[in-house]
Amino acid sequence: MATIIDGKEISKQIKDELREKVSNLKQKGIEVTLCVIQVGDDPASTIYVRNKQKACEYIGIKSQSYKLPESTTEAELLEIVEELNQSENVNGILVQMPLPKHINEDKIIEAISPDKDVDGFHPQSVGRLSIGQRGFISCTPAGVIELLKRYNIPIEGKECVVIGRSNIVGKPMAMLMLRENATVTVCHSRTKDLAKISSRADILIVAIGKAEFVTREFVKEGAVVIDVGIHRNENNKLCGDVDFDNVVDKVSAITPVPGGVGPMTIAMLMYNCVESAMSK
Ligand code: NAP
Repeated sequence: MATIIDGKEISKQIKDELREKVSNLKQKGIEVTLCVIQVGDDPASTIYVRNKQKACEYIGIKSQSYKLPESTTEAELLEIVEELNQSENVNGILVQMPLPKHINEDKIIEAISPDKDVDGFHPQSVGRLSIGQRGFISCTPAGVIELLKRYNIPIEGKECVVIGRSNIVGKPMAMLMLRENATVTVCHSRTKDLAKISSRADILIVAIGKAEFVTREFVKEGAVVIDVGIHRNENNKLCGDVDFDNVVDKVSAITPVPGGVGPMTIAMLMYNCVESAMSK
């Protein structure tokens, strides 16, 4: 029987640990503050921002929110980011993506001080990760590592295949698995014979953005399968990039959707905020 990796439970554990750390920091007079900036009112972004605020409240992190109109210019947004960079009281800055088309996302990400880049998207954070220096790590891949570690799933020496090479999931995921001494293969849309390569994996991490794409012929018997994807299927039910029902009897452990990787992203964002405050 496959172990169903419970991301909801692990994220709760992490948030409880952080809550205690934040309370200890408060006793020393240190307050942890996260600033979240949303431009426009994309409904999905509004939900993500609200969930981040809720997590902050639970842990005791002060959250400052900026809800800016769609018409905000790039220069205005850069000015706010710069003010927050300079503010002594702000530990983390998060600009909710996607931004309206007239704002260059890369320019905004690069404007955030790497010391407050709790999303881990700044080129300096990405560079530090790839050369093994300390720095903020993109929250979703960091969450996957936490899940594997807290379930005592060995990584060192294992064959890992990551499907997807996006800057926010696939690439940092591959770097992190390499840092944990796995042997890593990264697959993408031009990969030939994906099923042959992915079915080599002891640990298969799927971040492809295609609902229920990965079926049993992509998976080795007894593999650990981590599903980063999140979609709604034709019945309006949440599902991942992996066809869970189709593979579950073939694997040794698997993350469900919902309740697998998803809850870990916010937990790791909170972790980055607390780390930022502690390293001041
Ligand atoms: P993305 O930017 O769209 O990247 C998808 C990657 O999959 C690309 O590298 C693409 O290859 C590759 N790919 C697409 N079709 C493929 C195919 N047929 N065969 C092999 N590779 C293929 O997506 P993302 O931002 O990484 O997100 C991936 C999924 O994770 C999405 O479902 C997203 O909603 C979800 N997600 C979840 C969380 C969370 O908190 N749980 C966070 C972030 C993302 P190319 O590079 O060649 O185009």
